[in-house]
Amino acid sequence: MKRLLVVRGDITREKTDAIVNAANCSLLGGGGVDGAIHRAAGPRLLEECRTLGGCRTGEAKITGGYDLYAKYVIHTPGPIWRGGNNGEDALLRSCYLSCLRLASDNGCRTVAFPSISTGVYHFPLSRAAGIAISAIREYLADHSEIEQVRMVCFDARTEEAYQTALDASEAE
Ligand code: ADP
Repeated sequence: MKRLLVVRGDITREKTDAIVNAANCSLLGGGGVDGAIHRAAGPRLLEECRTLGGCRTGEAKITGGYDLYAKYVIHTPGPIWRGGNNGEDALLRSCYLSCLRLASDNGCRTVAFPSISTGVYHFPLSRAAGIAISAIREYLADHSEIEQVRMVCFDARTEEAYQTALDASEAE
């Protein structure tokens, strides 16, 4: 089985043990993938999120998945792109690693990620894809407990960017 896959789809339909939410620091919901996850999980997700006291950029917090197929949602606020000299790359990498650590700690074997920060946070897509793929590959190399990570891309352009980054990393 391939341990890292790029697929096209709606992350709220994923049957992985955990799905990742590209959240904001309040963890109280927003637009984009965050809104879609809250709609699909139902109101109990927001109730649990209210108890968490927010989350720093680059860190992650875990909740139940409620009405989702996934058992858990791992919420991570990605960096807002501010030109690239404000720690954006390291913060984005930290999002992926923080989520994977939480997944391992909670016994998850399969995890689905959306394209963190490339929506309203405007992180350049191919740069974000390279960072995501290399962070995930590094983590998987050291952590056999995670059997599969799925990068779930909502549109063709995003899918192409992540597939290109994955192909490049496999050619190394
Ligand atoms: P951010 O604030 O981190 O930029 P966004 O939600 O605006 O987050 O966008 C992140 C990515 O999630 C974008 O590529 C967007 O197209 C994608 N997205 C939106 N809805 C979904 C969904 N239901 N499943 C997977 N990806 C989604």
